[in-house]
This record gives sequence, structure tokens and C-alpha cells, in this order.
Amino acid sequence: MEILACPKCQNNNIVKSGVINNKQRYLCKKCNYYFTVNKLGKKIDNYYIIKAMQLYLEGLSYREIERIIGVSHVTVSNWVKEYKIKKPPHGDYHPTYKIFNHLELVEYVKNKSLLSGAGMVITELGDKFMLIKWERFKD
Ligand SMILES: [Zn+2]
Repeated sequence: MEILACPKCQNNNIVKSGVINNKQRYLCKKCNYYFTVNKLGKKIDNYYIIKAMQLYLEGLSYREIERIIGVSHVTVSNWVKEYKIKKPPHGDYHPTYKIFNHLELVEYVKNKSLLSGAGMVITELGDKFMLIKWERFKD
């Protein structure tokens, strides 16, 4: 199901506002932008917003998140502002991440030496899996 959203600010608080050239016109109640149905943006599924914020909290940069989730780093930084996400300092643990399909993931966890001395989480990402791993910086 497609959710109607403002093409400018992605908000879905929009109302119908007359018809122009036989096209429904809408008004965004958040940024007061008028637009017709042709310009209607697609609202990004909350699933991806949550994944992006998880990655942000894990210490990944906006551009790394852009590469993984496929939304622009500008959008990601807007979400951080919108949801008031504040990242605690990470100390000497450095996160790295890998994207695997299921078989690659199974192969990876078979290797015990890759699991020792590090913490990790595996999270679903679309049809793949992401493994985030923390290793203490070596002096
Ligand atoms: Zn708007």
C-alpha cells in the first residue's frame, strides 16, 4: 500500500485542496506546500528509518548509512533531527558491518575465530542480513 506524502518534506499530514486541470491538488499541513497528485512522493517505510537510526547509533556515518539503506545522507540527517537521536560517545569500540545473504551469513558464523573477542548483532535488512561487529581498538 502506498502512503500519500508531501514531495518536499515527506510528511503524510496532507489534505485535499481543490482540483487544478482535472488533477487533485493537495496541501501539506506541515510545510504548506501545494502539489498535485503527479508530484506525490512516496513515504519511506518506517522499517528503513528505524534501521538507519540503529546504524547511526552504532556509530556509522551518514554516507555509510546511505550506501546500506539506499536513502540519501541528507534524508538520514533529517531523520536524526526529526527524531532527536543523540549518539552517545563510542569510546574505543569500533563498529564494522557486513551485508550477507543467508548462505554467506552461515559461512561467516561457522568460523569461530571471527566470533571471538568481539560483540555482534545480526539484523535483517530487506532480503539480506547485516552483521554489525564491535572490536576493541588495539593499542
Ligand atoms: Zn511538506
